[in-house]
Amino acid sequence: MQAQIIDGNRIASQIKEELRDRLTKLHFAGHSPGLAVVLVGEDPASKVYVSMKARECKELGILSKQLDLPETVSEEELLKNIDYIQADPKVHGILVQMPLPPHISEAKVMERIEPDKDVDGFHPVNIGRMLMGAPGILPCTPHGIQELLIRSGNSPEGKDVVVVGRSNIVGKPIAAILMQKAKDANATVTICHSGTRDLAQHTKQADVLIAAMGRPQFIKADMVKEGVVVIDVGMNRVEDPKSEKGYRLVGDVDYEAVSRKAKAITPVPGGVGPMTRAMLMANTVRAAEIAFEKSQAKKH
Ligand code: NDP
Repeated sequence: MQAQIIDGNRIASQIKEELRDRLTKLHFAGHSPGLAVVLVGEDPASKVYVSMKARECKELGILSKQLDLPETVSEEELLKNIDYIQADPKVHGILVQMPLPPHISEAKVMERIEPDKDVDGFHPVNIGRMLMGAPGILPCTPHGIQELLIRSGNSPEGKDVVVVGRSNIVGKPIAAILMQKAKDANATVTICHSGTRDLAQHTKQADVLIAAMGRPQFIKADMVKEGVVVIDVGMNRVEDPKSEKGYRLVGDVDYEAVSRKAKAITPVPGGVGPMTRAMLMANTVRAAEIAFEKSQAKKH
């Protein structure tokens, strides 16, 4: 069987094109969206992610600002900077690139960001709204995964979805989104993790398998059923002397072997990654709209 390749780059472009009308309206109202990104330290992967986000902003005409802080910055100083940045009315969205150095509490940082400016969707208020199925800002990667499924013609409705991974940024929120009693969700969701007794027994049941483990090519062909739809969230650097950089990116799924059994599969790179950035742009536009609606309501 030749699997359908779910093209994250194409779907992400489509989503960004759809933002252009909303952006034009905001620009005309003198309310151009602005995103502030805070980067702590020198982590090379974080630097790459931040520069990719800035590039996407530029492409769409979204104003982006970046604050670089040293690895040694104190938690208090970082929180002060967050307060200062988000007090600027031109900043509609703010995100602090994770991971943070161990002396800084990520939870405290997430809680400091105002929920309406929390374009990462990690604030407990936004997480709560997501769990309740109430409108709010959804975390970028899980929301991007839902869009990938819908727009590739693989709706999760009524399906058995198995998520491998229970992190706060991918596993838990994707499960929360897809279990909602709502259109484009309504799936029966199982979450697996390192404490799962027989992982393959669960993954073999999946109509839709979402792998978010951070383990290179861990999911093998004998762990999935024929006709499965696979979303590979993993982004793992593995050594590759043939590559100029000395490494290449692989997912959590053994792509070659699993794609021979799957109905559809996302590649790595070019699957979930571009969707995460597209949803960040969508969240920034939404945050600017929320601010605009609030400012209009104050006038009346
Ligand atoms: P975490 O390390 O926070 O979580 C990994 C999860 O996988 C944990 O819940 C862990 O279980 C589980 N796990 C690990 N090993 C096994 C195993 N052998 N069997 C079963 N479960 C296992 O990772 P993230 O969620 O942050 O990221 C996951 C992957 O997705 C990474 O490769 C990351 O780079 C990538 N990623 C990609 C993004 C994108 O935009 N494409 C965005 C975000 C992440 P336990 O809880 O028990 O420890």
